[in-house]
Amino acid sequence: AWPRVDIDANPYKASFPLFSEHPGIAFLDSAATAQRPACVLDAQKRFYETMNANPLRGLYSLSIEATEAISSVRRQIAALIGAVDEKGAPRANEVVFTRNTSESLNLVARSFAPTVLEPGDEVAITIMEHHSNLIPWQQACRAAGATLVYLRPTKTGELTDEEIAAKIGPKTKIVAATQVSNVLGVRVPVEKLARAVHAQGGYMVVDAAQSVPHMPVDVRELGADFLAFSAHKALGPMGVGVLWGKLELLEAADPFLTGGEMIDSVTESGAVWAPVPEKFEAGTQDAAGIYATGVALDYLANQVGYEAIRSREAALVHYAMSRLVELPWIDILGSIYWDRHHGVISFNVRGIHPHDVASILDMHNVCIRAGHHCAQPLLAWLECENLACCRASLAFYNDRADVDAFIDGLQSVWSTFHA
Ligand code: PMP
Repeated sequence: AWPRVDIDANPYKASFPLFSEHPGIAFLDSAATAQRPACVLDAQKRFYETMNANPLRGLYSLSIEATEAISSVRRQIAALIGAVDEKGAPRANEVVFTRNTSESLNLVARSFAPTVLEPGDEVAITIMEHHSNLIPWQQACRAAGATLVYLRPTKTGELTDEEIAAKIGPKTKIVAATQVSNVLGVRVPVEKLARAVHAQGGYMVVDAAQSVPHMPVDVRELGADFLAFSAHKALGPMGVGVLWGKLELLEAADPFLTGGEMIDSVTESGAVWAPVPEKFEAGTQDAAGIYATGVALDYLANQVGYEAIRSREAALVHYAMSRLVELPWIDILGSIYWDRHHGVISFNVRGIHPHDVASILDMHNVCIRAGHHCAQPLLAWLECENLACCRASLAFYNDRADVDAFIDGLQSVWSTFHA
C-alpha cells in the first residue's frame, strides 16, 4: 500500500520564492540542491542586518551574539542527529562546520584516517558512493599503503549479507558508505555495515547528504562514528557543510586546514590547537549561512516534519514510477519498486543521450539532471551507456503537476527522435 497523500494539493510551494519567480517550472533536481523557503532567505538577510560581526574574534556584544548564533545551531544539529549524552543533552562540540559534504568527508579521510590506517589495512566503501565519498578514500589508502575494497550491491542496489561478510574482515579499519544513493535512490543498510566494521574494531563513516533531506537520521541508531551532510540539499544555503564525529576520534585527529581561529597559542616554532570543534574550523566561517542552516533544519524537521516529508515524497515517487513503467522505452536504473527509491529515480530513454533528454525537457520547463552524477564507478559497473543517465529527484514541495509535466516532456523527447 502506498501513502494516500493528496499530491494535487500543494501547501508548500507558496513558501518558496523561486517558484513564484518561475511559475510553472517543474523542479526535479532537488538531489543536486534543494530550493529554499523564504524563512531561510530571510534568516540569511536578518543575520547581516541585525547581528553581523566576525564570530569568535570579538569581545563586544555583537560579535558574541554572532558566536552564540553559531553555537545554538551546533546544539540544534547535535540534537537533530541524536548526538546527545546520557542525559539527552546535545553534544554540540562534536559538530564541525565545513563548506559541504565533500569537505567533511575529506576532513575524515585526511585527518582521522591517518590515525588508524596502517600499510596492509583495508577501507571498504560501496560502489554506489558519490565521488566525494570515494576519491578521499582512494587518496587516504594511497597515503597509508592501505587497500580500497568495494562492496558491490545487486544490480537493484541491495547489499546482501554475504557481500558484507565477504568484504568486511579483520583488515577492515574503516567503512564509508552513503545512507541513500544519489543515483539509485536506494537506502544502504548502514547499521549492518557499522555492526560488521565495529566487530573488527574499525570505524563507520556515513555520507548523509541524501538522507538528511528526506528522513530522520540518528547517529546512535546508525552506529556511525562520523556523519557528513550539506545544508544546501536540506533547504539551507550553499557553502555550509556539517561533519559530526565522536569526540575522542576528533580529538585524536590533526586538523587538515590551519590558520586563524583554530589555535590556542602560536609561537615561532609551532602551535597548540584549539579544542574540538574549533580545531577543524580554520578561518572565518559562513556565519550567516550557518544561522540560516539552523532555520532550514527547523523548517524541515519541525515545521514540515519528517513524517509529512516521507509520506508525501513516497506518494510522489509512487506516482512517478507508475507513470514511467508505462513507457516501454524507459529503462529504470536500480529497482523498479517505488519504495526502494528515496526521492531519486534514475533512468535512460532508450537510444537517446541523457544530455538530449535533459535539454528537451528544459524546453518544457522541466529540470532534471543528466550525466554521471559524480558516480562514475557505479555507472561503469552498471554498464550504463556513455557513463551517463538521467535523474529526476523529488522533494516534498513537488506535486502531481510536476510529475505530469515530466512525463509529458518525456513523451515529447521520444516523439522528437521518432517522428
Ligand atoms: N554525497 C552524496 C550522496 C551526494 O549526493 C552529494 C551531492 N550530490 C555529495 C556527497 C556532495 O555534496 P557537496 O557537493 O555538497 O559536497
